[in-house]
Amino acid sequence: MGGRVLLQKGKLMMFRKISLIMAFTYGLIIIVTIALLNVILVYTYQENQIAKNEDKYVQYAKIIANIAKDELEDTMTLNGIIRENSRGIEGRVLVLTGEGKVLADNYTYYIGKYVSNTEIIKVLAKEQKAIGYYIEDNRHIMTAVVPIVQNRGSRSLVLISTYVDWLFEDIRELRNQAAIISILAAILAIVLSYVFGKRISGPVEKLTKASEDILNGKLDTKVDIQRADEIGKLAETFNKMSEELYKIDTNRRRFISDVSHELKTPLTSIKALIESLIDGNNEISVYKEYLGDINGEMDRLSLLVKSLLTVTRLEELELKREPVSICAEVESITKLFTPLLKQKDINLEVICAEEVTIFADRGMFREVLINIIDNAIKYGKYNGNIIVNCGKAEKAYLKVSDNGIGIDEKDLPYVFDVFYRADKSRRRDTGGSGIGLYIVRKIIELHGWSISVKSEAKAGTEFLIEFSD
Ligand code: ADP
Repeated sequence: MGGRVLLQKGKLMMFRKISLIMAFTYGLIIIVTIALLNVILVYTYQENQIAKNEDKYVQYAKIIANIAKDELEDTMTLNGIIRENSRGIEGRVLVLTGEGKVLADNYTYYIGKYVSNTEIIKVLAKEQKAIGYYIEDNRHIMTAVVPIVQNRGSRSLVLISTYVDWLFEDIRELRNQAAIISILAAILAIVLSYVFGKRISGPVEKLTKASEDILNGKLDTKVDIQRADEIGKLAETFNKMSEELYKIDTNRRRFISDVSHELKTPLTSIKALIESLIDGNNEISVYKEYLGDINGEMDRLSLLVKSLLTVTRLEELELKREPVSICAEVESITKLFTPLLKQKDINLEVICAEEVTIFADRGMFREVLINIIDNAIKYGKYNGNIIVNCGKAEKAYLKVSDNGIGIDEKDLPYVFDVFYRADKSRRRDTGGSGIGLYIVRKIIELHGWSISVKSEAKAGTEFLIEFSD
């Protein structure tokens, strides 16, 4: 039982490594292919060589048969002719009667003796040629027998036998060479496949390790894989992903700490106000004043919480895009601000060069307008001007400019950051929480639009939104 489990585990381990799987698979494919190829090659070569050799000796035998056919009566002359004509042939040449009696032998020895073998019997049985192979004293011998055709119809024969060790030696050598080549090719295939497999599995292991690190909270983990192929691309994407994760996490932490800080300030002042009321024996007017302050802080707190809820909602909400007319929305929103405008005696002018329709989430677009126009009023000066301008140039655009207090150059890059307020001391008068433009930026990003700001301290500010289709 235990043994089987171990074996199974072993098997699994091997097939868990890409490099080993590749080495095994390609090695096997190469071994099978080369082995098959070699068998076919060796077999074809063998058949070819044997056939060629047989043809050659049958041809010799036929020539001898042709020469011998008129000299069968005279053994002396026949032997002379056979010796003469066998010189070029490496082997024994016999001429036999139909009874197997040797009439001529190029080496004389068999003359007058009787010889028989399977090939002789076959040719006597009217076959046109017969070839056989024998092993004698560990040597390979080939025998070719053909008939001597005479007019009288009686059958005599020519038999040639020759050593063919070279033929089998050749084939054996070829077979050995093929086997060596097969083994070398298989080893090469296994080694190369293993190396290539490692080239894949190495980075995969690195990526797995890095993913585990990320899983364990090390969000800024990077992998060092410099390659131009798909794995390099994967590593690059992985690094970008971890960078993004790290950024998101850092932002989240900063956001939480900022929120806590923002909540702490009004809570601390509320507590201080309440404590001084509890401790002191105050006039009713002091109570009223302090409670008014507490009420103010409470308003700010609920505004802050409302804005925070909007931010969280934004993270979860899906855009519900629909055709929205910029001019119509601007008109409708500016109406909401009439009391505020009156309060500061600000003149708001709307210039809609042409009717422009964008594809937007109406609610979110209104939120953007509200925040930007609200800021223009909040940071605008008494008796000032605000111009809302929309139209279409290269892209549809919306501009909101005021001639208010402006933003200092050093603050300008940060105005879209969460909780960023250009002048923190002004918080009390304006009631700003520094979330408005952050919400605006998020909505703009969600839609794929762009927003920019130009401003000069004490001169005024201009926000420009460019809509993309
Ligand atoms: P807040 O609630 O403080 O207005 P916002 O995110 O809307 O927060 O704006 C961030 C900061 O940018 C503001 O505190 C203010 O300093 C600056 N700001 C925004 N709009 C204007 C403007 N039209 N003129 C001058 N300063 C502006």
